[in-house]
Amino acid sequence: MSKSKSQSELLAKHYRQKTLPTSWCSGCGIGTVIGAIVRGIEGTGLPSERFVFVTGIGCYGGAGTYLKFSDIHALHGRCPSYGTGLKLANPELYPILLMGDGDAASIGGNHLIHAARRNIDLTAIILNNHTYGMTGGQYSPTTPQGTPAATAPYGMVEGPFDLCRLVQAAGASFVARTTVYHVNQMVSFFTRAILHRGFAVVEVESQCPTYFGKLNKMGTPVDMLKWQRDHTVPVEKARGMKPQELEGRIITGIFVEENRNEYVTDYYRLIERVKGKKSEIRNPKS
Ligand code: SF4
Repeated sequence: MSKSKSQSELLAKHYRQKTLPTSWCSGCGIGTVIGAIVRGIEGTGLPSERFVFVTGIGCYGGAGTYLKFSDIHALHGRCPSYGTGLKLANPELYPILLMGDGDAASIGGNHLIHAARRNIDLTAIILNNHTYGMTGGQYSPTTPQGTPAATAPYGMVEGPFDLCRLVQAAGASFVARTTVYHVNQMVSFFTRAILHRGFAVVEVESQCPTYFGKLNKMGTPVDMLKWQRDHTVPVEKARGMKPQELEGRIITGIFVEENRNEYVTDYYRLIERVKGKKSEIRNPKS
């Protein structure tokens, strides 16, 4: 682990000063998540050149504008595909996919589950604010049933995805959930996810005060953070609770952390076997 840096050192090292301040609304959770990602990367002790952000479409997808890391702004829902190409072309890279709930689970749902099925060595950090913020607060696949959205003024009729259970069932070998309120936990999960060999997903419960918070009368951004604090249940405690006690709660913690066959490593081994010789590029986590 590298020596921890001050806020001003991190700002100077990792943020493009000319593009600040950000365009995100005051009180939005995205800035906190980006700050935690930068700290999570610092925690790996790896050089910045090894990381590539792959950003999806939505408010969160603008993150690359503010950071000095290499960045590909992907088509809507296609972060896992771009990340797959990067990792196969250069297994020494650490692609980090930044996707909102709509980008990851609706437009990109198919790409997400197949990346999980392959257990490809990518880190997906899914920011879940239960809405399409950039386009005006429409409901997403994670909007809780019954809650209003711009496109559901009388309440969402459909039930939501549980993103962690979805990717776990599909085959992801590292799955965790945290919230914007729990910053230190968020940083440590990001570091562990990046260093994990295989498809690693961290879901972050985040706040969109401008649309989801306003439509659901959740108060100020601070009230929304307090809501996260008061509705969180650690996974260890949740295991002893009844389903009705967990309704409306956010279960946080690490759900899966397993060593399993990883796609890129197996792919390069296949090439070695077919060619009858060792390939030159290897996954550093092998
Ligand atoms: Fe954040 Fe919502 Fe504003 Fe987008 S619309 S920047 S998600 S608060």
